[in-house]
Amino acid sequence: MENKRRLVLVPCPLQGHLSPMLDLATTLHSKGFFITIAHTQFNSPNPSNHPDFVFLPISDGLTENDLLSGDFLDFIATINTNCEGPLKECLVPMVDQVACIIYDTMMYLGETVANHLKLPSIILRTSGATALAAYGAMPALQEAGYLPLQDSMLQELVPQFYPLRFKDLPLGISKSLESILQLLSIVCIIRTSSAIIWNTMDYLEHPALEKLRQDHQIPIFSIGPLFKFASTTSSSLLEQDSNCIPWLNNQAPNSVLYISLGSLVSVNEREIAEMAWGLANSGQPFLWVVRPGSVLGSQWIELLPEGFEEVIGERGLIVKWAPQREVLAHGAVGGFWSHCGWNSTMESFCEGVPMICSPNKGDQKVNARFISCVWKVGLELVNGLERREIETVIRKLMLDKESGEIRQRAADLKEKVELCVKKGGSSYNSLNDLAEYILSL
Ligand code: UDP
Repeated sequence: MENKRRLVLVPCPLQGHLSPMLDLATTLHSKGFFITIAHTQFNSPNPSNHPDFVFLPISDGLTENDLLSGDFLDFIATINTNCEGPLKECLVPMVDQVACIIYDTMMYLGETVANHLKLPSIILRTSGATALAAYGAMPALQEAGYLPLQDSMLQELVPQFYPLRFKDLPLGISKSLESILQLLSIVCIIRTSSAIIWNTMDYLEHPALEKLRQDHQIPIFSIGPLFKFASTTSSSLLEQDSNCIPWLNNQAPNSVLYISLGSLVSVNEREIAEMAWGLANSGQPFLWVVRPGSVLGSQWIELLPEGFEEVIGERGLIVKWAPQREVLAHGAVGGFWSHCGWNSTMESFCEGVPMICSPNKGDQKVNARFISCVWKVGLELVNGLERREIETVIRKLMLDKESGEIRQRAADLKEKVELCVKKGGSSYNSLNDLAEYILSL
């Protein structure tokens, strides 16, 4: 039995990629598959949270320099180069038991190794389908002379990509446009993989998924949000501070603004001060995640402006890392000021929490545009991090009558998510199709 049912999953070692891969693993395990997680030593998941899985550490050869370089694309390229040989070696002895390799788009070595071992491979995409379509459009935009971006064009609409503006294109993940386009030439094409799993919902991204289905003649399984199918086991790389839950218990319903910019975004001293004064002047209670090291030039919150402690004492709480899904599900939380990473976006949708969008780079900008202009469940901070705009937008979302429609749409979206994942829903069906498909390989 086991011969046909062992799956090797290769996650990318970043929080926003690791969580959906482990959720997929948990989900497929519940469908009767045996799971091996082949992971880097860097940011390795905690095996004790997943006692049913086999964990296979892969030597990643990452140096301090690789980790500090700050260039996402260099980091991805290094991991793929360094891990290919070690992954092959680890899998050779068990190859007869393996049904297929499921790899994160960014861990494209998964496909190379699968080919070498004559195994089928399946891609897991952890971003939204619309964002990938925007990445896919960039080579043509470059050919048409639109890239590199000109300041005069930033507010203009991208042809055939309504309502995306040039400023929303998923740039900023590397200093060089060339290296972004080079990575795209690797991750946007399917090569020899047999299928794609997408952590999204048909309802949400139907046009983008339809286009992908037309472009790629292989099965596409949209099974989002994956965490809705997995148990509640945490795959957090940082310790989640649960003390915020009793604090939330003491706040009025829908009164608290939750703020988190995810696991990678950093801000500088000016930006953290603007955020703090915007929050202070809004008069709204807040729960703020400030990840250690995310304020450039400081360990944690040393650079918060003088006097802000009093505001915290009156109506705020700052934590290093929160149990985000639990926080968003809490009745006291009435808004989510987010960088619009795909996981945070889906988690907010699942709980019907309206958003304030502060995208930083890459796919976050596409997500933010769609959250505010297509799904219409959030408001965008159009001037970056600027205290007056922050104050106005917080008040508008949390207090103004006109935000009632946004709140209603967010509540409707929550219902749609529930329909997708329940028996007979699109994600539910797609998950069953995937399990059958793997068995047919
Ligand atoms: N997260 C968390 N605690 C926090 C902040 C974030 O557990 O205090 C989780 C969040 O629930 C999400 C992930 O970290 O699942 C962030 O992923 P996302 O795609 O939103 O952004 P990224 O970190 O990749 O930029």
